Amino acid sequence: MSENKKNFTTNFGRKVDDDQNSVTVGPRGPVLLQDVHLIEKLAHFNRERIPERIVHAKGAGAGGYFEVTKDVTKYTKANFLSEVGLRTEVFVRFSTVGGEKGSADAERDPRGFAVKFYTKEGNYDLVGNNTPVFFIRDPIKFPDFIHTQKRNPETNLKDADMFWDFLSLTPESLHQVTILFSDRGTPKSFRYMNGYGSHTFKWYNEHGDYYWVKYHFKTDLGAQNLTRQEAEHMKGVDPDHATRDLHDAIARGEYPSWTLQVQIMPPEDAEKYRFDIFDVTKVWPHGDYPPVEVGRMVLNRNPDNYFAEVEQAAFSPGNFVPGIAASPDKMLQGRLFAYYDAHRYRLGPNYHLLPVNRPKGVEAKNYQRDGYMRFDANGGKTPNYYPNSFGGPAPDIQTSEPAFEAQGKAARQPYTYPNDDFVQPGDLFRKVMTDQDRENLVGNIVSHLRNAKKEIQIRQTKLFYKADPEYGRRVANGLGLDL
Ligand code: NDP
Repeated sequence: MSENKKNFTTNFGRKVDDDQNSVTVGPRGPVLLQDVHLIEKLAHFNRERIPERIVHAKGAGAGGYFEVTKDVTKYTKANFLSEVGLRTEVFVRFSTVGGEKGSADAERDPRGFAVKFYTKEGNYDLVGNNTPVFFIRDPIKFPDFIHTQKRNPETNLKDADMFWDFLSLTPESLHQVTILFSDRGTPKSFRYMNGYGSHTFKWYNEHGDYYWVKYHFKTDLGAQNLTRQEAEHMKGVDPDHATRDLHDAIARGEYPSWTLQVQIMPPEDAEKYRFDIFDVTKVWPHGDYPPVEVGRMVLNRNPDNYFAEVEQAAFSPGNFVPGIAASPDKMLQGRLFAYYDAHRYRLGPNYHLLPVNRPKGVEAKNYQRDGYMRFDANGGKTPNYYPNSFGGPAPDIQTSEPAFEAQGKAARQPYTYPNDDFVQPGDLFRKVMTDQDRENLVGNIVSHLRNAKKEIQIRQTKLFYKADPEYGRRVANGLGLDL
């Protein structure tokens, strides 16, 4: 270790003479205000916490790489997908959603699955979950939905009435509720779960042809879950079990990996498809659009410092690269605003300069200047306005997304496409689940829904019944309801 590294200094570099005794008048005190080392230490300690994420507060992260294994250049011109064998550095954050930063990893909850690709064309963030769908399909409902997963404003307790009241009044949630209350709602750990982009995204190629795509990261360990009983036990025995499992597996050299697949839909199919392809409460059945392999993601690096890399990691669904773009999905459109906004609030307007967030494959250059914690050179002497005649950075029209049609009357309006909220949860219950899955699903629902008021139990059970009569009947039996 160099001589310099051994020095213990104040934040401004003065050597600290003693860190065990405050400066006092006599051995019993009082303490003198002139002990600036003591005051710096206490004041910084008071400021250690930054605002907790309102959702996805509890998380774990790791670094690694993504490697292209199949040629997809026919569909996208994204440079990081341009060649089989090409590797791109990634940083990934997994999380639960509703609980506080100290909540248990084994809670029944969707898991966040956020991937940052540090590409040569800037950062591409794929900010998904371990479920292919979501509870709601309009962002205007999001704050209300999340309030129902948090604590009751009067009692400060989690509240089954709030939880099921909202869901039973929101039938579009049924697909996600069915997945959440299957054992996939309590994954064995982060290594054993799939990740999904959930929304429909747009890919476009060199010629400007475009396709709609859905992303699926399939865990190479196979999806494995905890039963309700195992999850309840785990919450008490080790509230951090998934964080620990990810860290320890990587430390042992057992690097978790996922195979990335995409479903690809030509645009002419979208208008006539039997579901609205932009409705995030729906999947595209694999039989219609078989997933095709794209690459493999490997996590092989534990962060050196949790706060620096994981707590300050800021993912935004709007971070696209040329060749990948948004779709009209209303939930996605809401998220394109909300994530940047959350980071500016939590981390400040210059959060993009933090090492985990700044692009690595390219230098960010523009005319934004100043603001809190502008800790890089702030553009130095270069011009701070555009256009200019002093050689400042210039836009490149070649990187535009191809123009697209958008039309219709502006109004507050629901999706008009036939949006059957019950077909896909019914398919999951009938066709995909095994007998054991169905038994666990019903048991998981009954053990939670029984804590809600009877009228709410009845309203929610009617939704299960609409998805599949057997599904509704079994929940009703478990709750002792006579429907
Ligand atoms: P498939 O039989 O082709 O695919 C079913 C999918 O369901 C598989 O990807 C499987 O994942 C996944 N799965 C298995 N058990 C569960 C569970 N408890 N919760 C959630 N997903 C589970 O059928 P379809 O494509 O026709 O879809 C049928 C239903 O499967 C859908 O309505 C949807 O509920 C669910 N599903 C569909 C997905 C899709 O993108 N098409 C993705 C995930 C779920 P695995 O391969 O890991 O076992």
